[in-house]
Amino acid sequence: MPDAQKKTRVLILGGGFGGLYAALRLDKTLAKDPDCEVSLVNDTNYTLFTPMLHEVAASDIDPTNIINPFRKMLKRVVCYEAGVRHIDLHGRKVTIDFGVRRTKELEYDQLLIALGSETKFFDEQTRVNAVQMKSLTDALLLRNQMIGLLEWASIEPDEDRRRRMLTFVVAGGGFAGVETIGAMNDFLREGLRYYPKIDPKMLRVVLVHPHGVLLPEFDEALGHYTTDRLREAGIEVRLNVKVDSFDGQVVKLADGTAIPAITLVWTAGVVPMPIVDTLPVKKQKKRIVANACMQVEEFPGVWAVGDVADIPDPTGKPYPATAQHAMREGKRVAKNIEATVRGRPERIKPFKYKMLGQLAAIGRRRGAAQVFGLRFSGFIAWWLWRTVYLMKLPRIEKKLRVAFDWTLDLFFSKDVVQIINIKEIQRFTEIGTRRFHLLDAAKNPGEVEHPAGDGRAAPEPATHGETVSTGSGSRVSGPG
Ligand SMILES: Cc1cc2nc3c(=O)[nH]c(=O)nc-3n(C[C@H](O)[C@H](O)[C@H](O)COP(=O)(O)OP(=O)(O)OC[C@H]3O[C@@H](n4cnc5c(N)ncnc54)[C@H](O)[C@@H]3O)c2cc1C
Repeated sequence: MPDAQKKTRVLILGGGFGGLYAALRLDKTLAKDPDCEVSLVNDTNYTLFTPMLHEVAASDIDPTNIINPFRKMLKRVVCYEAGVRHIDLHGRKVTIDFGVRRTKELEYDQLLIALGSETKFFDEQTRVNAVQMKSLTDALLLRNQMIGLLEWASIEPDEDRRRRMLTFVVAGGGFAGVETIGAMNDFLREGLRYYPKIDPKMLRVVLVHPHGVLLPEFDEALGHYTTDRLREAGIEVRLNVKVDSFDGQVVKLADGTAIPAITLVWTAGVVPMPIVDTLPVKKQKKRIVANACMQVEEFPGVWAVGDVADIPDPTGKPYPATAQHAMREGKRVAKNIEATVRGRPERIKPFKYKMLGQLAAIGRRRGAAQVFGLRFSGFIAWWLWRTVYLMKLPRIEKKLRVAFDWTLDLFFSKDVVQIINIKEIQRFTEIGTRRFHLLDAAKNPGEVEHPAGDGRAAPEPATHGETVSTGSGSRVSGPG
């Protein structure tokens, strides 16, 4: 298609805060231009609003209310629900995988890398046994696990096992950890009233933090305030100690303490997506080094924002990895890309942002906040948290839905419906495997007839001129 080849191709990898806000801007500018094509690749067909993730885990809001489909937000940008498998910076092309083991190559003139980060673990055993709080699925699984364990504990005759089921540990006392434990504690204590056979004294909720003060991003006084309020709410806060290991049954701390527990939620740090490691560019703490204009200098036309990028502030220090930075970097980088494509280099500007403040919800309708240098705590900080994040949540439809959920939450107790129990998880796994093989077989009719699940081994897929990948890229997306 000679026409398509003449077009300037802008490719955005990742549709989180950085990628989405760049795409939103480009949708109204470059994407309108018939000589440009703007594309966005993300492994889900929606963007996730992470600051409200703990509210999903605690049953405060409906899960789908904190996600927004790209297709409702972007009119002209071409969307690919696909995983980024390989980035070839020398060849200026990206390989994506989609559906069931299909791959496609996308060439670009301008590339924005905004793939975010994943949870950082210190060992494999903890990684496989702990619950994460990074995706919508993580929040749903945590909610299900809490309810499932209440159900089991109410039947379990053995006291030690019951205690283990009713002990919930969170590792990490930063924003994600504090908000998660506050929400879990509220949910569990409120939910207990529907389980009269469980002695409420058996419930143990523990926060383990490696430093002396919680929420290190805040003023110390707010950290102490948060510790006091969490303890008041019945949470055991263990400071200055690290989690050493977790085998799925016992959480071992570095000071020798062993906490029998089935649930460990790991929120102790993030690291840029591993694909970044493969790129032949300068890195700082695994983040791509970009200049103040967010350009990756070794490769003209390549830009990086958000958690994957090390972007210097005016003093030379890197900006922190937060949503409020990523979304503003996304907006600025879009303008810089526009300036480049339109041949107006004088319009390329550095990213400059001074954080206005930070807010944390810590449970029981209390919060901690530092805004414009002022400290707030208690109900007012919680109210600020809700107001600010409701404003930041994309799209009016979702804002209204969340506001509605919050209003209902004032009048009704938390829902303890366990949507997916362990038997359902097993069934989903079977159905998923079966569908995967059926769809795989459908690509090459006549060759693969026996999907797994029939007791017969599914054959390896064959290739018919199209590219078929055999490894597992990132998450498999497709009509499971
Ligand atoms: C529980 C939690 C609470 C948080 N609360 C706050 C808060 O209150 N305030 C705040 O400022 N920050 C908060 N953060 C941090 C914030 O979410 C991140 O800093 C922000 O999301 C970074 O934006 P990003 O665009 O770099 O990455 P992300 O928003 O993570 O976006 C990356 C996107 O890339 C996609 N992706 C990744 N790999 C691939 C691949 N191989 N192929 C295709 N797509 C891929 C992902 O699905 C995702 O959509 C929180 C984080 C968590 C986990």
